[in-house]
Amino acid sequence: MSTVPSSPIGLHRVLAPAGVLPQAADRLDPQSPPRSDEVLIAVDKLNLDAASYRQLHTAHNGDGAAIRDAVVGIVAERGKMHNPVTGSGGMLIGTVEAVGPDSPLDLNVGDRVATLVSLTLTPLTITDGLADWDGLSEQVPCSGRATLFARSIAARLPDDEPDDLSLAVFDVCGAPALTARVVDRFRDRVGRAPTVAVLGGAGKSGSLSLAAAVERKAERTVAVVRDDTEASLLKHEKLVDNVVIADATDAVATAEAVATVIPGGADLTVVCVDVPGCEHGAILATAEGGTVIFFSMATSFPTAALGAEGLAADVEMIVGNGYTPGHAGYAMSLLKTVPAIRSMFQARMTAD
Ligand code: NAP
Repeated sequence: MSTVPSSPIGLHRVLAPAGVLPQAADRLDPQSPPRSDEVLIAVDKLNLDAASYRQLHTAHNGDGAAIRDAVVGIVAERGKMHNPVTGSGGMLIGTVEAVGPDSPLDLNVGDRVATLVSLTLTPLTITDGLADWDGLSEQVPCSGRATLFARSIAARLPDDEPDDLSLAVFDVCGAPALTARVVDRFRDRVGRAPTVAVLGGAGKSGSLSLAAAVERKAERTVAVVRDDTEASLLKHEKLVDNVVIADATDAVATAEAVATVIPGGADLTVVCVDVPGCEHGAILATAEGGTVIFFSMATSFPTAALGAEGLAADVEMIVGNGYTPGHAGYAMSLLKTVPAIRSMFQARMTAD
């Protein structure tokens, strides 16, 4: 454990370019011994962010070995799992191996934890070449070391849930917390509950966002999904008031589909699709004065901003910050209290 003073936000780990925060860095130093306020994690598993995995899968035509080589290569080159195309990362689980005496994170050696800060800023080394991964799933068995800064966040893994399930829930736990916050805020401001549309409602962040909207007593919830299979699943699980089918990248079709159940558009639209090109559909599907949460990492900020301007759409647009206070505990509570969430996550992970 080094006693050299360090930066709580990890500036001392930035190799290039100088002066940027770790998330914006091209390369981090994952090798130096932990500083007195850092925590060292022995990594078990990575959870690649859905947009990142889909991009890698598409770029390598589904060739698992090539996808594995790409991930190993990114981490070797960048000192972190930061997909250079999507700009997104994911998170990891592992066991605390060392805790600096000045760490404020309240972790102990031996704790099983999930990191709640993105892999795009987490110094990481891989020591097994990802030999146990076939390259065909978002969850990646991995031996390696990761470092948490003083200002990082991590959650202890619950003893009563499978690690893989907790990992998948924690990865997207920012979405339900932000949805709940915006639903509450709308009610306080307008004096009634909002209508809520979720694009990609059958996915992980989408189903949790729907569960959050229901838990906060949204006036009506609608899931936009892309095919009959996802629609039947959601109807079977009874998680949502209405399910409509549309390609979320088709702006007009998406808005028309939402309007069939919420004429005039949703007060809140949450984008949880893992492909690019959903900005305009989300804006068109949202009522005047409403709000769009762009949780998807495949969102283009210029496309959203210029699209709203071009449509003269008076909508508030929120970047889906992955962190909201209490987000991990809230997502876990939805997993435990909403049976549909458990079964949809389990089905998705089995299919993976
Ligand atoms: P997911 O479980 O794969 O869900 C995505 C859903 O979108 C799936 O049901 C997918 O259907 C559906 N979909 C894909 N293309 C569609 C289309 N054209 N029209 C309608 N639906 C479509 O993904 P996730 O883990 O929830 O992640 C969703 C997004 O959140 C990703 O972009 C991810 O990067 C992002 N994310 C953001 C944060 C943050 O901090 N802001 C954190 C984690 C993840 P299929 O399964 O049939 O493809």
